[in-house]
Amino acid sequence: MLAIRIHETGGPEKLCTDDIPVPMPGAGEVRIHVEAAGLNFIDTYQRGGLYAVPLPFTLGAEIAGLVSMVGAGVTEFSVGDRVATAKASGGYAAEALAPAAHVVKIPNGVTTQMAAALMLQGLTAHYLAIDTFPLKSGHTALIHAAAGGVGLLLVQLAKRAGARVIATVGSDEKVALVRGAGADEVVVYTRDNFTTAARAFTGGLGVDVVYDAVGKDTFAGSIDSLRPRGMFVSFGNASGPVPPFAPLLLSQKGSLYFTRPTLLHHTQTSAELRGRTDDLFGAVLSGALKVRIGATFPLKAAAEAHRALEGRGTTGKVLLLL
Ligand code: NDP
Repeated sequence: MLAIRIHETGGPEKLCTDDIPVPMPGAGEVRIHVEAAGLNFIDTYQRGGLYAVPLPFTLGAEIAGLVSMVGAGVTEFSVGDRVATAKASGGYAAEALAPAAHVVKIPNGVTTQMAAALMLQGLTAHYLAIDTFPLKSGHTALIHAAAGGVGLLLVQLAKRAGARVIATVGSDEKVALVRGAGADEVVVYTRDNFTTAARAFTGGLGVDVVYDAVGKDTFAGSIDSLRPRGMFVSFGNASGPVPPFAPLLLSQKGSLYFTRPTLLHHTQTSAELRGRTDDLFGAVLSGALKVRIGATFPLKAAAEAHRALEGRGTTGKVLLLL
């Protein structure tokens, strides 16, 4: 079967179109016939070597499609079920395995492509807005890269919670999109100073929380945008990892809280996963949450898709289609 693998780390040119055997599900696993694989920034970290993976490695954790086989002990899924997961092994392929406990059925009314778009980025936006910093009315959140996959969903969930949102985007073309998602203020941070904007918007006080997955380039400005005892949520490295810093900095900048969460620890049980996906799918079905599929590429063009994502040329979700 077709699979996109890396045999060594590096740029998008390291993505190889390989022909590999169809995997067989082990106990507790399901095999999924992939219809859409979500492209996520983590795929670029793994491809580039920032996050180590065993080689050769088939990229792709987020997929949606049809169950094609179930392993021993799996009772809740049958062949033909329409499902999605953010925990696939080797999702950039025609068929991929996933633990049944981390697979969800896609409800009628939610398309397979939407489900592929929601599993990793939607779940991330969900735990960030609801658990990492439980947003509510009266809070002001600064959300970076707000036109991206996580960003557009996080803006909407923050608004659903009643918070005010200051969003940043890398170019003028992305401003209307983020305003359309509900952002109260949008800053083109490649041109304008987002810290100045955050302070102005909050009467000089600073924001309650910064959601920063840009990393290296925004770290200092994000710290300076927070109110005393505000929370810095560092959840990604799109521009490179945050450099090491002394804890004393948090004290000097206002007794700040700093956390570096990841999805893994927010979907540890099947019940937690299903609670979050039920909420996300429900929000889509009610019209409260819009999922933007910004671009689709054939799976074989995965390298082109990686270049577009890393080149800041995409908005919303990027899908690889079989
Ligand atoms: P996005 O669609 O948001 O794409 C990344 C965006 O980051 C770009 O579109 C760009 O937007 C912005 N960006 C800023 N500087 C750079 C740069 N130097 N190079 C590339 N992009 C840059 O991707 P995802 O939604 O997949 O992921 C967003 C972030 O969330 C990533 O950092 C990812 O690692 C993180 N993440 C973390 C998870 C967790 O649980 N911790 C889970 C999922 C994602 P602009 O041009 O508007 O600045």
